[in-house]
Amino acid sequence: MSNTQDKVVIITGASSGIGETTAKELASKGAKLVLAARREDRLKKLQEEIQNNGGEAIYKVTDVTSHEQMEELAEYALKEFGKIDVMVNNAGLMPLSPLHEKKINEWDTMIDVNIKGVLYGIGAVLPSMRERKEGHIINVSSVAGHEVMSASAVYSGTKFAVRAISEGLRKEELGNNIRTTIISPGVVATDLPETISGSELKSAIDDFYKIAIEPNSIARAIAFAIEQPSDVGINEMIIRPTQQEL
Ligand code: NDP
Repeated sequence: MSNTQDKVVIITGASSGIGETTAKELASKGAKLVLAARREDRLKKLQEEIQNNGGEAIYKVTDVTSHEQMEELAEYALKEFGKIDVMVNNAGLMPLSPLHEKKINEWDTMIDVNIKGVLYGIGAVLPSMRERKEGHIINVSSVAGHEVMSASAVYSGTKFAVRAISEGLRKEELGNNIRTTIISPGVVATDLPETISGSELKSAIDDFYKIAIEPNSIARAIAFAIEQPSDVGINEMIIRPTQQEL
């Protein structure tokens, strides 16, 4: 039996890109998936695909910016599967823009989804993990959580915050046998740049994304962190395209 077999894994942002691919990867290794995002049609399709391939998955429509909905998501996982082994806080968006453009709605959304969503995810699963003295929380940051570029001030701010929160969590919960992993992808071929509203910047980023790697590269890294023995924490990984300088 692999160390992934029968692990109950919640994934936020499972309706596309890295989250969707990670769900498929983990299902193929015997994990029981709890898929979360806002687009129900996509969650349902993914659930069916996993089941048709012999895997196990349930889903719950969830907006990570709602503390209540995140609590309900964790309760649903506990009700259906009896435990939560892994929480993958993956949902995020990247509407890049320079600060002087004052795209305040976009700043607020990034802070709500990329930071608060991760915090609510941690808060929702910690009580049951602390009780069992076992668990694993994986938070998706970014290379932009290590480096700041022009137009990435707010996005980078949110991704630096994810790393800070994850490191605090690691120190607080190591005594409870709860593992933490920060995943920092470089450019990955997903819909993420679609949230950029400025057309000039969007075309520059599209250019930058020409070297993007497939989301499965990130899914494999997440699977690697999960399948380690419980006394081994893979605390941080940066996964870039070989040709990415930044
Ligand atoms: P996608 O745009 O493909 O996926 C983003 C996911 O987030 C979607 O499933 C979306 O689902 C979900 N999401 C957005 N807002 C909410 C919300 N309020 N509540 C619940 N779910 C939400 O992009 P990626 O797969 O690339 O992004 C996944 C993560 O990887 C993000 O955190 C991103 O910052 C990070 N990342 C990606 C990189 C890349 O180059 N692609 C590089 C570095 C980091 P729905 O709309 O259905 O709710």
